[in-house]
Amino acid sequence: MSTPSPSPGSKRTRTESTPSCARVAAEHRRQMSMPVVHTETPCSACFRVSVANWFAAHESAGFPVPFAFYCKQDTDQSRKCVGCFESKGNCIQLPVGLIGHRFELLAVLAWLAEFCRIPGMVPEATSELALKVRNIMGAFFKLLEQHQANEIADYASWLANHQPEYRVPLGNPVKWHYLWERSRACPKLQYSEENVNFWMASLANFHNSVSAVMAALFDPTSAEIRRIEQHLGDFPVPLPLTF
Ligand SMILES: [Zn+2]
Ligand SMILES: [Zn+2]
Repeated sequence: MSTPSPSPGSKRTRTESTPSCARVAAEHRRQMSMPVVHTETPCSACFRVSVANWFAAHESAGFPVPFAFYCKQDTDQSRKCVGCFESKGNCIQLPVGLIGHRFELLAVLAWLAEFCRIPGMVPEATSELALKVRNIMGAFFKLLEQHQANEIADYASWLANHQPEYRVPLGNPVKWHYLWERSRACPKLQYSEENVNFWMASLANFHNSVSAVMAALFDPTSAEIRRIEQHLGDFPVPLPLTF
């Protein structure tokens, strides 16, 4: 028995069309609500939250790596990231002039994560390494304050003078090397400039501290020591010479 076609506007017509409309709306919402997580380019607030959360996780779980920034962008919500939208805070991206240093920091953290995969690494050592990360993060916060506190009078001119012509070479398979190449291709303070010494000292101190943790942990005759020494020599950022 065939069912008669409903007249336009009847209840039956609305009932049949509703699931379809709902599907379209749901699909639209789904497409608009596929958040993107920025793991390299957090906003200033998420940068601080990511660092704090990472240390909190370390203190409760005792294993600090790998570190990653977390700043979620849901285009359905707002121009703000989700964290700033929910906290009703200002969503301010890290200053452009910091991008090169941000990649330096990420390169160093990626390099450190490799250490924690070396067989024989123990929780005590990773706790020590986490403290070293706290120091380097503190130095990066100082760089951030330097840029946000209007210490650089003419930021546009400053940026124009800090645009490297360097291009990232294709096919760099090692993550921290790749991040270091990205750093070279982005604006940042040059090592001969003022106000960069504390950052370079922090990087050098970080390398020396990690080296000391490794020396204390592994016997010089152990099987892992060759790999450790090689990795120490593979630090991504060229360090200032010390005499
Ligand atoms: Zn964010
Ligand atoms: Zn934000």
